[in-house]
Amino acid sequence: MSDWKQFTREPRIAYFSMEIGFSAEIPTYSGGLGILAGDTIKSAADLKLPMVAVTLVSRHGYFLQTIDAKGRQKEAPASWDPGMFMALLPVKTLVTIEGRDVMVQSWLYRVKSPTGGEIPALFLDTDIPGNLEEDRHITDHLYGGDLSNRLKQEIVLGIGGARILDALGFTIKKFHMNEGHASFLTLELLDRTRHPVEDTWDERASWDTRRVMDQCVFTTHTPVPSGHDRFPYELVKKVLGEPVPLSLIQELAGKDNLNMTMLALNLSGYVNGVAKKHGEISQNLFPGFEIHAITNGVHTFTWASPYFVNLFDDYIPGWAHEPELLVRVDNIPDEEIWDAHCGAKAYLFHYIEETTGTKLDPDILTIGFARRSATYKRGDLIFSDLKRLLKIGKGKLQLIFGGKAHPHDEPGKEIIQRIIKKTGQLKGKIKVVYLQNYNMEVAYRLVPGVDLWLNNPIRPLEASGTSGMKAALNGVPNFSVLDGWWIEGHIEGITGWSIGPPATETSVDDNHAAEDLEDLYDKLEKVIIPLYYNDRTGWIRVMKNAIGKNAYYFNTHVMMRRYVTEAYIR
Ligand SMILES: *Cc1c(COP(=O)(O)O)cnc(C)c1O
Repeated sequence: MSDWKQFTREPRIAYFSMEIGFSAEIPTYSGGLGILAGDTIKSAADLKLPMVAVTLVSRHGYFLQTIDAKGRQKEAPASWDPGMFMALLPVKTLVTIEGRDVMVQSWLYRVKSPTGGEIPALFLDTDIPGNLEEDRHITDHLYGGDLSNRLKQEIVLGIGGARILDALGFTIKKFHMNEGHASFLTLELLDRTRHPVEDTWDERASWDTRRVMDQCVFTTHTPVPSGHDRFPYELVKKVLGEPVPLSLIQELAGKDNLNMTMLALNLSGYVNGVAKKHGEISQNLFPGFEIHAITNGVHTFTWASPYFVNLFDDYIPGWAHEPELLVRVDNIPDEEIWDAHCGAKAYLFHYIEETTGTKLDPDILTIGFARRSATYKRGDLIFSDLKRLLKIGKGKLQLIFGGKAHPHDEPGKEIIQRIIKKTGQLKGKIKVVYLQNYNMEVAYRLVPGVDLWLNNPIRPLEASGTSGMKAALNGVPNFSVLDGWWIEGHIEGITGWSIGPPATETSVDDNHAAEDLEDLYDKLEKVIIPLYYNDRTGWIRVMKNAIGKNAYYFNTHVMMRRYVTEAYIR
């Protein structure tokens, strides 16, 4: 199991991501970014692409969420044992942190596809006897600790990752940075290009940034300047030191702070955003760089519920390996689409009754909303006018929520608290459930089991969004603000419904809360609820279009073919 050498025979594309979500048992992800990374590698394995993934082992995961009676989120470590899923590789490498050597080792996880494709994923780990006690904890918690710990994690990921690939004997033809956390790998590559004037360190040495650019691909995921990782140079000098001279780092990563996004932008030959709109926004944010767009996707087989897997197997053979075939969804009879959906709904409701004690009514239109509880996602928007919601939805709606707030995100936690509070106020009139510890397992049941998938972020902050793609795949139409992927997937009344104004503005200051809310209520009342209850055939038509016009395209197979042709082979 620990024989990795079969993977070093051919040159590979190295995919670096601070978080990767392969399954709920390996809790090294916080949300969409990590699950995208996992889905990317799964599709790459299906397509037999020569890749290797690099991430952190995060031995205590992101965290386990419980919610108390008052709606307060509580966090506990989501500890897991890498030895249960992976093999510890015998090769170690060193990185310099605060001037001392820190050993880095890696765990090999094999991502196997039914096609025979297989991709190695390396989980980096500093918990090694011989490292200082504090250094052994660097890779404990995903996004845990203070800024200094974040910097250390990013050194382990970027520099440690590049070095361990080298130490293991990998030949890497492209380094793909999934978000800026891994940008330090560019400094390692830069250091490898150094032409010393003599044998010693010399001011007149030169570095070949062009050569590094040829090797690097960078995908940005953050549409606001404040979302990008930045480190003060005081801290950088202390923790990172000068793998290349500080003046050069400042030239590449910013004068006042080390901006991980700037570093990646300056040293990558191909840069992209994760949806068409996000590409444009990033282009405005970073004039002077050429920024492309490759829209995110989901791994079709991972996210299809067992009910739809069976249905697709019957009517669309080959769909899992060629999701484009879902365009032929109209070959499936309406009743069978509806039966599969009812199966997924019953499966979810059974799970909810078991875990929360709440019995939901399968005949009532059920809306789902679950994702990281970040303020821009506005999880509690639908509760803004309870009287109106009751007038529209009493006896006709049920709501299911889920999502974790980052442990340091007070406003995010308050959103959860407000949703729980509304649950009480609506008691006896509209059932509302908040599922604890939203993770891949919960998503797998929740998303296919609701009737409508709600998404109402402040535009343009949802760079892409992927949960809506999981919904569409399972015949669950989206009801969403026109942001991220939905701008591309939305055809009003055909694939689902929009909320609020069309996507024209790119300014973050345009918070259309009132407009969005009015449209949300209005469409629920006049379009969505009547269609669901009075025209089942019309509803099923939208379900089928979600599959045939959204899911056939917004998947990681299609996405990876684009990365290969547009980013990797240049
Ligand atoms: C898909 C998924 C996400 C991403 O949801 P978005 O709505 O795209 O933000 C987050 N968390 C989990 C557990 C998921 O499965």
